[in-house]
Amino acid sequence: MAEPLVVLDGVNKYFGDLHVLKDINLTVAPGEVVVVIGPSGSGKSTLCRAINRLETIESGTITIDGEELPQEGKALARLRSDVGMVFQAFNLFAHKTILQNVTLGPMKVRGVKKAGAQQRAKELLERVGVAHQAAKYPAQLSGGQQQRVAIARSLAMDPKIMLFDEPTSALDPEMINEVLDVMVELAESGMTMIVVTHEMGFARKAAHRVVFMADGEIVETAEPEEFFTNPQSERAKDFLGKIL
Ligand code: ADP
Ligand code: MG
Repeated sequence: MAEPLVVLDGVNKYFGDLHVLKDINLTVAPGEVVVVIGPSGSGKSTLCRAINRLETIESGTITIDGEELPQEGKALARLRSDVGMVFQAFNLFAHKTILQNVTLGPMKVRGVKKAGAQQRAKELLERVGVAHQAAKYPAQLSGGQQQRVAIARSLAMDPKIMLFDEPTSALDPEMINEVLDVMVELAESGMTMIVVTHEMGFARKAAHRVVFMADGEIVETAEPEEFFTNPQSERAKDFLGKIL
């Protein structure tokens, strides 16, 4: 078997007295797509943020492509740039054009020359279906288009893994599929992905594994079809009863 790309080993996270991640163990193989699902407040966002080291952890280790995430410094910056993240809110740079949003990271962080960065950005904008919007500003785009730009912007950094934290939950319903379609294409292209979402269609189409979290714990892990049709734990049954 290939070396895992992401390993969480005994990860614990507290906010004050609140134990938000409880002894989390999770291994993600290259090319694997893991959907994380669970009630609000169960620690899904904190898990994503910890993998990107936007949150510190109190114990345990997080390893990205064989290297343990350090607390700070250059090695952290390098490892962090291997992890792309797309959030619920489309946090594009408001005062930059769509093209600039996508070229900025590669030029500043990766030292890519402008012409090369623009060429690549155009290809990525094409891939997510917003190439003709390149000269516009984020506010001129729909939420679905902005979220697709956010995906292109992350991809421009050539991440080894992409994290998505409820990327469609702030979108109007008619825009959800255009974003999910891009994510399905990305999954099929072999990208390693951890996706927090309640979109079962996506999980069924693209996920290799569903991880169900509740109260800071991984309660259940299963293949999507198995999880949705035959959940094992009471908490998963209860949760699915509410969202189905
Ligand atoms: P989810 O994404 O599954 O809804 P979160 O990871 O956002 O859950 O939150 C897990 C728990 O941690 C919740 O109880 C939430 O209120 C709490 N929490 C999240 N961020 C903070 C923070 N910065 N300070 C204190 N508590 C937080
Ligand atoms: Mg969340």
